[in-house]
Amino acid sequence: MGKYAFGVDIGGTTVKLGLFDNIGQLLDKWEIPTVTDNGGAAILPDIAKSILGKMKEKDIEKADVAGVGVGAPGAVAEDGMMVGGAVNIGWAAFNLKTALFNLLQMPIMATNDANAAAYGEMWRGGGAGTPNLVAVTLGTGVGGGIIVNGDLLVGAVGGGGEIGHIHVEACEEESCNCGNKGCLEQYGSATGLVRIARRRLAADNRPSILRQGELSAKAVFDAVKEGDALAIEIAEKFGDYLGKGLAIVACVANPEVFVLGGGVSKAGEILISYVEPYFQKYVLPACRNVKFSLAVLGNDAGIYGAAGLILNARR
Ligand code: ZN
Repeated sequence: MGKYAFGVDIGGTTVKLGLFDNIGQLLDKWEIPTVTDNGGAAILPDIAKSILGKMKEKDIEKADVAGVGVGAPGAVAEDGMMVGGAVNIGWAAFNLKTALFNLLQMPIMATNDANAAAYGEMWRGGGAGTPNLVAVTLGTGVGGGIIVNGDLLVGAVGGGGEIGHIHVEACEEESCNCGNKGCLEQYGSATGLVRIARRRLAADNRPSILRQGELSAKAVFDAVKEGDALAIEIAEKFGDYLGKGLAIVACVANPEVFVLGGGVSKAGEILISYVEPYFQKYVLPACRNVKFSLAVLGNDAGIYGAAGLILNARR
């Protein structure tokens, strides 16, 4: 096995890259911009150039590199195929693994970005040492990565773990980004929390700190910490939806740990105190014994997980 591995996390505005040693220690990390023009045609060549440049800088030979793991913002099948492309960065359907291999001639592992983050958290983060784990990223959307017996649940075309699109509300009028109505992501994300807050504030004239300043997930949880009654109601509703969605996930994947990450998780332990009681209300009793923890790797979870997929690959 090589002495090094690279982990790459492709985001909408930047690509994060990390150089790891073969026991998974991060030696160096850096970022390059994600150029989405022309259907994102420059993204992979830019990544390849950046990796080859780093190898030159550190005097690393190709034979010393175990491979490159890459996480992308779209569904990625086991063989690297992205049947739906990656809309945010301009990609149409293609095989990510093959395309990056053609540029680098090194072993490649490709997966969805939320799956990479989940793998990172299992391997080096908030779920360290737990082979049955679900990582939930609460950001603009709700991302999920499901790990069963140490392996990512990828599914037929890479749609495994897309827990943000579990149907949790029959009466929703607005559409989710996926085209359906009533998805978990419409309530359980940072954006969803703001939607719940906006609707609650419009319902009557009760006083609240949230009536001043800009509404955000942070503003809601800050107001909860101040004891604001309306903010607490909003957080309860948010927790109800998220608890319900995760109870469904628990009946399918039966994890030992839920690791909560993404922007909303910056609220801290208070987030768990609003989600866990509803999870316990809805979950199958046999699947009840689940620990909730907060993600610890932050923005580095994706590069850790992508490199981990290479270093832990069964050959
Ligand atoms: Zn949806």
